Amino acid sequence: MLPPKPLTQTRVPNVYDAEPIPEAAMAEVARILGSGDLFRYTSDVSPVALLEAEFAALLGAKYALAVSSCSAALFLSLKALGLPDGARVMIPAFTFAAVPSSIVHAGMVPVLCDCGDDYRIDMDDFRAKLPGVDAVMISHMRGHTSDMDAIMELADAAGLPVIEDAAHSLGTTWAGRNIGTIGKVGCFSFQSYKLINAGEGGIMITDDADLIARAVIMSGAYEHNWKKHPVLQEAFGRWQNRLPLYNLRLNTLSAAIIRPQLPELARRVRDGRRNHDHVAARLNTSPWIEVPEKLEPELRAPDSIQFNLAGMSEAEIAAYAAEAEARGVKVQIFGASRDNARAFWNWQFLGETPDLPKTRAMLMRACDVRLPARLTLADCDAVADILLDAAEAVMAEERAFGT
Ligand SMILES: *Cc1c(COP(=O)(O)O)cnc(C)c1O
Repeated sequence: MLPPKPLTQTRVPNVYDAEPIPEAAMAEVARILGSGDLFRYTSDVSPVALLEAEFAALLGAKYALAVSSCSAALFLSLKALGLPDGARVMIPAFTFAAVPSSIVHAGMVPVLCDCGDDYRIDMDDFRAKLPGVDAVMISHMRGHTSDMDAIMELADAAGLPVIEDAAHSLGTTWAGRNIGTIGKVGCFSFQSYKLINAGEGGIMITDDADLIARAVIMSGAYEHNWKKHPVLQEAFGRWQNRLPLYNLRLNTLSAAIIRPQLPELARRVRDGRRNHDHVAARLNTSPWIEVPEKLEPELRAPDSIQFNLAGMSEAEIAAYAAEAEARGVKVQIFGASRDNARAFWNWQFLGETPDLPKTRAMLMRACDVRLPARLTLADCDAVADILLDAAEAVMAEERAFGT
């Protein structure tokens, strides 16, 4: 094997650290701590209510409800749709374990749809499984948008509601529309690895008055706390005392950390896309690396890059990950570890998982590398150099030994 380049030659950027939280948040957090007002329903104008109004306006939705996580938003969406116990909910097989978990938590049954090597829903499998389900939850995994035109057309024709899991898609558009506003409800995450970082947090948006009223009450707006949501008083009245309370509220500190990041979003989207497209173009020069094309109507907002290794055996794929790590960039191959939460066969809490050959083949050679918006192009080149050189090193050795 070629000796790794000494690490002093290329400065390896840190792809894990978050951006600092804007100064404005620190002042607001200090003010809130000074007042002790941490619960969203204590005051009449909570930072959480302000966040909801600002987020709905930013995305172009009528209503928003901030909650404790995107998983909580997915769970509440299922409950607010009024789906019965045991309802079958289709999800892509390439997603995060919290997604099927939200369905199990809601007393429903996930139905896994195969995904292609472009990380998107396989539309043939979607069509085949649609007649057997009661709802559809589309995870735009790692921000990759499946064919929303085809999905909406099929789901609408079948009369099935679509929930968008847009946890990792804030800022992505499809044919000019914001991801998360295409289905009946869209759910986003403010967990630290997403474009807006509050440590934890989530939000759901919809234009459906009864859906959001039901979700607000179930999120924990007990008694008449729903009056502090400055919309929809009529719809709330209809659901008073008729729904369980799951208490999934967001606290005021989280809202104070999120709100000053909303104006940063456009820059993060722009720089994240620039970084992604720069590294993608460089990786695609390698005979052993393929970065799948997005679908035409999608405009991405990436903070990471995914690519497929091509023409490598399982051993070479493992050697590639080790080589990249030795050079300073950690490459996660989704299907390669025994506990990866994005490999469907590790979701043993579901019992038997179906055989999904396309998704499985993709996960065994698909690589994941973080590429945050704050990186410079020079940082991105350092990452790309390592990813390219690692492939060269592994495959040059194989060729030398004639295997
Ligand atoms: C992060 C993520 C989630 C879970 O979000 P939480 O806020 O951590 O619950 C769900 N789906 C996808 C696609 C994600 O990336």
